[in-house]
Amino acid sequence: MDKKAGRELKTLEAMIKLYCKGNHRAKEIPCFRCRDLYNYAGGRIVNCKLGVQKTTCIQCSVHCFKADFRDRIKTVMRYSGPKMIYKHPILAIYHILDRL
Ligand SMILES: [Zn+2]
Repeated sequence: MDKKAGRELKTLEAMIKLYCKGNHRAKEIPCFRCRDLYNYAGGRIVNCKLGVQKTTCIQCSVHCFKADFRDRIKTVMRYSGPKMIYKHPILAIYHILDRL
């Protein structure tokens, strides 16, 4: 895994946790459903076909997120994005959203 993917995964995880905490009353954070989303989106990041060669997903021609997960990720980002902007390198993950 390249460094950029690792950073994206960390950001993704933090966003999902934040979203889950604020929206789901689960005993475990992230809850089962959110973990599922993380696994899916994380897998897409790691297995991105363009790999290290891509600059950002903004320029990516591969639409690799399925519609259902895409909507869920968007919801998570809309919620967590503004809250995380000071704590995390949020811009690192915006490219995912932009291209969806
Ligand atoms: Zn959750």
